Amino acid sequence: MIRKSVACIFFLFIAFFSFSQTKINNSATAVISRPKLVVGIVVDQMRWDYLYRYYGRYGNGGFKRLINEGFSCENTMIIHLPSFTAVGHSCIFTGSVPAINGITGNDWIEQLSGQHMYCTSDSTVRSIGNESEDGKMSPRNLLVSTVTDELRIATNYQSRVIGISLKDRAAILPAGHTANAAYWLDDASGHFISSSYYMPQLPEWVNAFNNKNEIAQLVHNGWNTLYPISTYVQSDSDNQPYEGKFKGETVSSFPHDMKKNYETSKGSFRQSPFGNTLTLDFARAVVENEGLGNGKATDFLTINCASTDYVGHFFGPNSIEAEDTYLRLDKDLAKFFQFLDARVGKERYTVFLTADHGAAHAIGYMQEHNLPADFFLPGPIIKNLNQVLEEKFGLQKLILSGENYQVNYDMRKIYDQHLDFDAIKKISVAFLQQQPGIQYAVDVAKIGEAPIPQPIKEMIINGYNFKRSGPVQIVLDPGWFEGHGKTGTTHGSWNPYDTHIPLLFMGWGIRHGSTNRVVHMTDIAPTVSAMLHIQMPNGCIGKPISEVISSK
Ligand SMILES: [Zn+2]
Repeated sequence: MIRKSVACIFFLFIAFFSFSQTKINNSATAVISRPKLVVGIVVDQMRWDYLYRYYGRYGNGGFKRLINEGFSCENTMIIHLPSFTAVGHSCIFTGSVPAINGITGNDWIEQLSGQHMYCTSDSTVRSIGNESEDGKMSPRNLLVSTVTDELRIATNYQSRVIGISLKDRAAILPAGHTANAAYWLDDASGHFISSSYYMPQLPEWVNAFNNKNEIAQLVHNGWNTLYPISTYVQSDSDNQPYEGKFKGETVSSFPHDMKKNYETSKGSFRQSPFGNTLTLDFARAVVENEGLGNGKATDFLTINCASTDYVGHFFGPNSIEAEDTYLRLDKDLAKFFQFLDARVGKERYTVFLTADHGAAHAIGYMQEHNLPADFFLPGPIIKNLNQVLEEKFGLQKLILSGENYQVNYDMRKIYDQHLDFDAIKKISVAFLQQQPGIQYAVDVAKIGEAPIPQPIKEMIINGYNFKRSGPVQIVLDPGWFEGHGKTGTTHGSWNPYDTHIPLLFMGWGIRHGSTNRVVHMTDIAPTVSAMLHIQMPNGCIGKPISEVISSK
């Protein structure tokens, strides 16, 4: 009996010991399955319709590869105002909106102090890579975490995160607060620079890349069309009056002498497709030199291709320049994906491609085709409104600016003088509502009572941050936009041309297919979070797009 009990206890002990060992072994070896690298590409100002407008002209390795191998969300909408660059990039990577994440524009007026603020401006840091003010930048104005931050937290900072762009804001905001680095282009030197927020000095490989002076090679042969100009049947004929001209050019037509233009103005490089080529060449250098995709944990590279935006602003969506820029970007993307296949391994990385906003057609183009559109000039309207308010309240310049399609008041003056702010806003709204081109003017604090269609109301509320947004919102007639020149185009409105964006996923963990279901820009970060099995960002209001994710 005793012997039997001892044997039984011994057996139980062995069983328990073996079970514990199994458990320990399992917990030590079972690893959550994740890709080696995530690449988030934001094509600046890419309207969704560019995917199909130029479809027949794209090769098989770029946009078409994303569509044919990956998953396309065909109706991805922005749900905030204004639809600007910094705002779009923040919403993509935070799954949040300006009301919560605080990035209410590329610039804004700090409402309590009246101070002007650039979205990534930070006086406490310094430039790395040059002595200018251009590097005094950081993500500190972003009030929430990004999906890139959450990946770093989830892997106890073993993941590496790097953001790149020609634009500081489009490199910094996607990469988040805990990024290892963000790099952007300094026009004066033609070099990628950074900020002391990230590093004390540029890595040697960045110096080596900069010293190659690739811009000189890229502009050397000028910018002519990739294919014979007669084949650009999806675009206007060249040299339309509503296209911009480079300084010194008398006509806006091909070929553009980019070497001369670059000598005249360094910034002109951005307004050519070669800005995207440089960005993706730099992206390759980042992957190679930092070994992204070769580490223990999943790495994340964010890339903004910004030249599409500069070209769009300058020439408009219907120009041959815009089409040629997308055809060249398509080739650059194909080369980049091929590089990732070879370097990281096919099906070992996940890529997504989207846009921070779209763009309106040029006003001149719209009018030529009898479509309603016109320029809105806020300057004279704000000046006249200031006069109306001065007559009523006896104080000059109660309005500081009409920036971001919002009325920004001098709140210090209003508080100090104990003025009736409700009365000021009421007079402003009544005045603005009567101006040509303004469809709605609304006191956001009273938006519940305003007769504005619900989807637009929601976009206004999502974009409104008490400390960083003007309290009266202006919504223009469709087709109208703020502009002082008569050329090119812009974006910023609620309308689908500005807010319907492409969203494509490809690679590890991604199903092949597409959906016409409406999804939102704020759904991108939670989708990537779900795919990676990490926490969604801390201001996220979006939902995972479950159709995209395969079960791994
Ligand atoms: Zn943009």
